[in-house]
Amino acid sequence: MAVMLASAAALVGCVPAPATAPLTAPPAPMTAARDEPAPRLTLPPPPELVSPVLLGLPPAIAQGGVALGTAPVGTTRLTLDGAPVVLASDGRFLIAADRDATGTLTLTAALTGARTLTATLPVTPRAWRLERLDRVAKVPVPDADFARRRPAELRQIAAARAVGANSDGWRQRFHWPVTGRISGLFGAQRIYRGQPGSYHGGVDVARGEGTPVVAPADGVVTLVADPPFTLEGRLLILDHGAGLTSAFLHLSRIDVRVGQQVRQGEPIGLVGRTGRASGPHLHWAMTWRGVRIDPQPVAGAMPAG
Ligand SMILES: [Zn+2]
Repeated sequence: MAVMLASAAALVGCVPAPATAPLTAPPAPMTAARDEPAPRLTLPPPPELVSPVLLGLPPAIAQGGVALGTAPVGTTRLTLDGAPVVLASDGRFLIAADRDATGTLTLTAALTGARTLTATLPVTPRAWRLERLDRVAKVPVPDADFARRRPAELRQIAAARAVGANSDGWRQRFHWPVTGRISGLFGAQRIYRGQPGSYHGGVDVARGEGTPVVAPADGVVTLVADPPFTLEGRLLILDHGAGLTSAFLHLSRIDVRVGQQVRQGEPIGLVGRTGRASGPHLHWAMTWRGVRIDPQPVAGAMPAG
């Protein structure tokens, strides 16, 4: 696959081939006269534009969505809008678009021999569910106990998402961790008297307390919040590798420990209503490198029953 893509990349006809400038400038003679022309610069040739399809990517990426791609053979470094992307040994990689991303994402692959390929990936806008509440003021700041406990909880969540575990779960076709009625959508947002509240950062599945939750893909456990956190309740975070994580909130019980490798489909805990939850449900949140993404298209259609 990667070999084919690499050769295909060289066939992009509408882009002129990069200038074949020498990679190293000839050494300037020590006795050079002052009016002699300066030695040629050693800058790499300009990037070659490729279609995202040639990187194994879809032609566009949805807001809050992920995409898998394959970098050409010889890629030494891959960046998305300037930030490094984890590149597997076979060239596979994963990228995501923020819920509020607009315009295009720019992928740049640096290849051996100072060649550079660049692909721009348009971001497809989505219509997020917005609810305007003109009579309700934004929820007031919670109590002193919350204010005292919250900073440490947020630090633990950030640390768990930044572990960078060695897992190939990101390559798998994700499953739903529980099946049931979707009771809350990713990206939904309330506007209080014109003031936007924070948007819903995961997908909610309504199920009874005690329903088993399974790993949607392979991963490494990076956080077990037990005793429960103020908002998330009993919270479990899995690292699927390549910067992709899953968080499971409001659990009544967690059956795995930090550092444990779990397999897709393996039971990891039970649905509950711990933390700030109006009833028993699973809130499943995903992030890629800190960008919040929508688990729903990652897992696909909800199976019946
Ligand atoms: Zn939720």
